[in-house]
Amino acid sequence: MLSTAGALRLKRYSAPIIRTRTKMDSRPQADRVFSPPSYSSSPPRDGCKGGSDDAVISLQEWQGWGTSSQFPSSVKKIVKDMVALERTTDAQMRFGGKGGKLKGDFKLIEDKKHRATYQALVDSEKKIQFFSARQIACRLLGSRAYLCQKCWLPLEDCMCSKITPSTLWHGIRFWVYMHPKDFLRQNNTGKLLWQVFGVHAATLCLFGIAEHEEIMWNAFKHAGKSMVWCLYPSDDPSTKSVQDAFERSLAGLKDQQLMKYEDSPLNFILIDGTWNNSAAIFSRLKEQAKLVWGEEDLSCITLAMPGVSVMHKLRPQPSWDRTCTAAAAIGLLSELHVLPEVSSLHLDKQAEAVEDALVVLLEALTSRRLRMACRWKTSAKSATVWAVGGRVWKMQKKSLIS
Ligand SMILES: [Zn+2]
Repeated sequence: MLSTAGALRLKRYSAPIIRTRTKMDSRPQADRVFSPPSYSSSPPRDGCKGGSDDAVISLQEWQGWGTSSQFPSSVKKIVKDMVALERTTDAQMRFGGKGGKLKGDFKLIEDKKHRATYQALVDSEKKIQFFSARQIACRLLGSRAYLCQKCWLPLEDCMCSKITPSTLWHGIRFWVYMHPKDFLRQNNTGKLLWQVFGVHAATLCLFGIAEHEEIMWNAFKHAGKSMVWCLYPSDDPSTKSVQDAFERSLAGLKDQQLMKYEDSPLNFILIDGTWNNSAAIFSRLKEQAKLVWGEEDLSCITLAMPGVSVMHKLRPQPSWDRTCTAAAAIGLLSELHVLPEVSSLHLDKQAEAVEDALVVLLEALTSRRLRMACRWKTSAKSATVWAVGGRVWKMQKKSLIS
């Protein structure tokens, strides 16, 4: 059933075997101090204190991470609050480890503050929005001037020059509905879709961010329920295969008739999160569908042969149905391509473009891990030498004094 793309996937995915969790995963990265907006060489703390609140994260900086939306007000507020908190305390805002986590004394102070805010919220919707906004704010502040905005890899590992952009058939629009914990994650694969196809063909929608969800649902309302599909594995009998869902609607269409999809594209929601998080995302989608269309059965499709993603080897937790987001898009495009009516659209080539990007990401992550492992060994060796040297020096000093 799977076409060329599937075969290619099997062939190309003979990547080096990588342990699911390496020493590097559990070791924190070097701490990152919050940088002033200008990225000047002045001390970060002074630069932060001297900057204007509005300039902490500009619209341009926000959109640089892969979205065309306005800077969400909830995220902006938390960023401002964190900067203000830093100004009123002696603790410096530091980030480290995976996902731009706060560190040190500032973390302890901020933890207390945000927990109190969260507890005080009564409305569960407000709690979701606050949780998402805070996650995103921390990731934005902790990743600036450290990650490449386009590929979300550390600047020294930027893979952007190896990505080949492609044009997605205008009759399809992807919505990458992402959990905030996946935002700016180095091994996230949803980002590849807009890196390859652009942010208007593959649009990021962050879970719990009102501005993003509004844009997505407005587009769905405009398109109509029959033009919105969620790619989600489910035993529910209403979940269709790609063939069942589109064979009838596309049957007998001529090239000109396919053009109508270019004016009103098919919308595909790709859930981007770990298995546990994807259940929450799916549930939110169904609730929204009920509000918009008055019924809960969001149309779902599932892949006939979901490929096990090679990215799985690099993720501590499996994403839904063990297929990463990019692989899900590849599978969908490949399965659509085998329908005779759309074979002229070259969806197989578009699937291959994502596949190529996936291979580039895997290689970048693999070489980073190998290099960091070497660096870790070297620094461990230096630390031993330093410790031994320090002891010798202390002994010499003692003998000199006595
Ligand atoms: Zn890059």
